[in-house]
Amino acid sequence: MGERVREVLISQAEIEAIVTGLAARISRDYEGRQLILIGILKGAYVFLADLARALTIPCEVEFLRVSSYRNQSHPGELEVLTDLSMPLEQYDVLVVEDILDSGRTLSAMLRYLGEKKPRSLKLCAFLDKPSRRQTPLEADYVGREIPDAFVVGYGLDYAQRYRSLPYVGILDLGT
Ligand code: 5GP
Ligand code: MG
Repeated sequence: MGERVREVLISQAEIEAIVTGLAARISRDYEGRQLILIGILKGAYVFLADLARALTIPCEVEFLRVSSYRNQSHPGELEVLTDLSMPLEQYDVLVVEDILDSGRTLSAMLRYLGEKKPRSLKLCAFLDKPSRRQTPLEADYVGREIPDAFVVGYGLDYAQRYRSLPYVGILDLGT
C-alpha cells in the first residue's frame, strides 16, 4: 500500500476540454444515426458518463463486462462476464474505453461485437499508449496520447482504488 499519485498528467480542466472536443466530433459524425455507446466496465464508466452528456445528439447506452485471459493457453481470448441485453443489427456502435494499451482485449472485443453485425462499429478511447501496442489496432477517436506510464483516476484503478479521482495521475508504486 506504499503507492501514491506522483504527478497530475491530465487535469480536470484538460479532461473537460478533451471530452468536449470528442463529443463535438462524434455528434457531427453520428448525426441522424442510431448511436449506441457501449462502455467497457469498469474503467470506462466515468468517461462514458461525461461523453454521453456532452453529446448534442441522442444515444443509447450499454455496458459490457469482460475479462481477458492473460495466460499462454488462451492468448487473446475473451471471457464475457456480463453480456448485452439486445441485438445490435440496427445500431451504429461506438465502443467507449478508458485506455488503449496492448490492444489485445479491445481487438478481441471488437471481433466479438462485430459478430453481432452492427451497422457500423468504431472505437473511442479516452487515453492511448501507442508505444505499448502488441496487436495492430487504432481507435477512431482518441482523447489523448500518453507515454508509457501507469495512470490512475477518471475511472482507471490500481487494485480497484483511485477510480474516483477527477484527474488522471501517474502512480508511483513506491516501496
Ligand atoms: P489492452 O489494450 O492491453 O488489451 O487493455 C487495456 C486495459 O488495460 C485497459 O482497459 C485498462 O483496464 C488496463 N490498463 C492499461 N494501461 C493502464 C494504465 O496505465 N492504468 C490502469 N489503471 N489500467 C491500465
Ligand atoms: Mg479497461
